[in-house]
Amino acid sequence: MTAIAIDGPAGAGKSTIARRAARELGFIYVDTGAMYRAIGLYMLKKGVDPSDADSVVPLLSGITISIAFRDGEQRVILCGKDVSDEIRSPEVSMAASNVSAIPDVRAFLLSLQRNLADGNNVVMDGRDIGTVVLPNAEIKIFLTASPEERARRRYEELISKGVKAEYEEVLSDLKQRDYNDSHREVAPLVPAKNSILVDTTGNTLEQSVCQLIGVIKERLHS
Ligand code: C5P
Repeated sequence: MTAIAIDGPAGAGKSTIARRAARELGFIYVDTGAMYRAIGLYMLKKGVDPSDADSVVPLLSGITISIAFRDGEQRVILCGKDVSDEIRSPEVSMAASNVSAIPDVRAFLLSLQRNLADGNNVVMDGRDIGTVVLPNAEIKIFLTASPEERARRRYEELISKGVKAEYEEVLSDLKQRDYNDSHREVAPLVPAKNSILVDTTGNTLEQSVCQLIGVIKERLHS
């Protein structure tokens, strides 16, 4: 099995680029952020503070998360319900960032993530795929862009989906998530040692997709 790890901060274009690369290569695409989002959503629904480990951890045993693929698209099933659309709100983004700092939450999702890569050729995106989840991935990419550009992309994505948003708020949320993700004790967001750094600032999405697919194909065939 071949694994391609794509890590990087929120809004770098990971999911779109990884999805396209997976389709082109005939691999499955696994979005690990969606799993953290599902746990964040669960905690919000239970009325639990997602950053309070003492409240979050006991609830993990009641959670089942599975991944299904429909028309090649990943769907996230939380306790039997498809929550793939519901997990995209800014509120759930922040809840995901908060639960992801809790070591038990990370351990809970690790086996699900590794099992997917055991049985399939995968392009997996997240924050710690090349460093922790799949340290032996054949190709590791660290995808980034400036905070302002990432916030602008996120803002436009939310607006196009009909979600109400303010640019300044999206930017400050994103900076907060960057800070949380790179300063947590367990599996912080850092480029894996042997990763290829790709900065997509100033690129159109199409240019980034082409660049990434080019890098991947070159490595796979070398
Ligand atoms: O990638 P996405 O924005 O959907 O991820 C939501 C949150 O989940 C991130 O802000 C991050 O805190 C967390 N996450 C993580 N490790 C991953 C994927 C996502 O900590 N592998």
